Amino acid sequence: TKFAELGLDPKLVASVTEAGYDTPTPIQNQAIPLVLAGRDVMGLAQTGTGKTAAFGLPLIHQLLGNHEKRQSKSIKALVLAPTRELVNQIAVNLRDYVKGTHLKVMTVVGGVSINRQIEQLNRGTDILVATPGRLIDLMDRRAIRLDTATFLVLDEADQMLDMGFIHALRRIAPELGTPRQTMLFSATMPKQMEELSRAYLTDPAKVQV
Ligand code: AMP
Repeated sequence: TKFAELGLDPKLVASVTEAGYDTPTPIQNQAIPLVLAGRDVMGLAQTGTGKTAAFGLPLIHQLLGNHEKRQSKSIKALVLAPTRELVNQIAVNLRDYVKGTHLKVMTVVGGVSINRQIEQLNRGTDILVATPGRLIDLMDRRAIRLDTATFLVLDEADQMLDMGFIHALRRIAPELGTPRQTMLFSATMPKQMEELSRAYLTDPAKVQV
């Protein structure tokens, strides 16, 4: 399969071609059509399999199609990942994919000035990539609105479980807009993942590589 055959916006096909991607990886072949169809997805995949594009491309495709929300720089998609490094890596990839579109990607992580992040948030973004801890800090300061976000991605969810993630998610998820499309990716599937899935995903399609 080629990227152009997956039903993605031509702008996105151009972006991945420019990024040097030739053919979709197995997780991309499986997940992209499901996400485009609006399904919640639970993916069992390691880093390095191309899972950022697997959720990122169809997510961006849907944001490009939403003309009503086009003008406002409100958070439309929230991506949660366990560490600063992962958040930054995801953002680097997503910025490659949104090149040539009107969409903005912003990160929120610990270890940098929260006041600067608040200023940046006030300027607006379409996609927010965050660690749960710093996001909760911003919520506690009432510095962030998530009710416009109708896409939620939980990346490396197994790593986040060890970090009080269930508690954080219990606070974050109700702040998001409805209906919501949720994608969960994890390298392992411990029993708690089933609980997470039951609590936050609706009739998820399962993909595995
Ligand atoms: P990820 O698993 O999302 O961390 O991606 C791992 C690396 O593979 C990243 O550097 C991506 O830029 C790259 N990548 C993702 N999808 C493809 C693809 N279809 N072809 C070639 N490289 C890719």
